[in-house]
Amino acid sequence: MTRYIEYGADMMIKRLFFLLFLFFVLMSADLFSQQPELEIRTNPENRVYRFETNSRRGYYNLLIQNITCINRSRETITLEKGVLELSDDSHILQSVYISGADMEKSARQMKAFEQQGTLKYYGPFLGLNRIMKEGDRLSTSPDLEPHSVLVSMWHYLTFKGEPRWLTIHFEGRTASGNPVMAEARLEVVQYQPARTYIFPVRGLWYVADAGDAFSGHRWVGMESFALDLGQLGAGGKTHQGNGERVEGYYCFNKEVVAVADGDVIEVRDGLADDSATLQRENETDEDYESRVTQNQMKLLQEDLYLTAGNYLVIRHAPNEYSHYAHLKRGSIRVKPGDRVRQGQVVAAVGHSGNSTEPHLHFSINDGPDFIRSSSLPVMFSNINTPELNGRIYLHAGDMVKTNDF
Ligand SMILES: [Zn+2]
Repeated sequence: MTRYIEYGADMMIKRLFFLLFLFFVLMSADLFSQQPELEIRTNPENRVYRFETNSRRGYYNLLIQNITCINRSRETITLEKGVLELSDDSHILQSVYISGADMEKSARQMKAFEQQGTLKYYGPFLGLNRIMKEGDRLSTSPDLEPHSVLVSMWHYLTFKGEPRWLTIHFEGRTASGNPVMAEARLEVVQYQPARTYIFPVRGLWYVADAGDAFSGHRWVGMESFALDLGQLGAGGKTHQGNGERVEGYYCFNKEVVAVADGDVIEVRDGLADDSATLQRENETDEDYESRVTQNQMKLLQEDLYLTAGNYLVIRHAPNEYSHYAHLKRGSIRVKPGDRVRQGQVVAAVGHSGNSTEPHLHFSINDGPDFIRSSSLPVMFSNINTPELNGRIYLHAGDMVKTNDF
């Protein structure tokens, strides 16, 4: 009898526990449904590479292509402030605020791209395809409706010293007045390449574009630290004659070499080195720029990868691939699967794809895909550039001479 009572009591307790447990589950589920969810995603994610501003004086810079705030709750969230914070393991070294006005400006620009129908072409270059999910909508203001996304573009920081972390912090409020916050943290890294690279061309070259803030490359992840390389002749010009023919450019048809041993991953050939895309002698810069933009859009609409022209990708290490673009039609001497040696001639400089004049666009990326990988800051072992003057990286405006020249 006693046993029965005991047993019954035990059951009661168990049931009570079960009910209590269920109650807590329901309560917490309810809490979660009210708890607004603000997600921050960034491009780059996890780590960001520092680049020289003036390394002799200890100044460096970094760039976040975009910071995306996504409202994953069922209520509207109004973003009130964003902060970028550089820190070492114990101290905050620098804080930069993102104002509401700045958020709004960027949001409107993205919306304009969407309305013009160009976002689908620019999105992959801006890393937005990875960040936005099916059903997410762009917001034009810091008032984020459920499933809407605020894209805050291009945050560039110059700093002194060696911060270890970049923390991105956003605060806001729900329509019902509850505070919300979200955070993302990236490691600030001085990139150490896995391989020793030589310069992709031989002789005396001019760096027309590199990873500097004033360069066009820096602002797009796939080419942040890419180099545009050309050659100069008499009068500091890149070409002989009036510059209306690709053959008149000093660098045209010069040999391109493999920067390290590796395996050829991808080759694209067959696109013309079209003299018609060069600036005409009597054409104003403004007219030419609009023609270049139109041409670029035409290529993007047909196939995003056409912008690179004829290109070649070689794998050197698990996360290091050399990318060579705008190559001369028919000049690529290797095919996917080929093993190449450092210094082996693999192609020639050309003017295919989205190119304003013959040059080599070169970069080491962390993946094989031209658009969906990120550019890495690298240096070269065989160059003699006194102007480097203690610098590690090449910058736009540098003249580079390879040692064998
Ligand atoms: Zn380029």
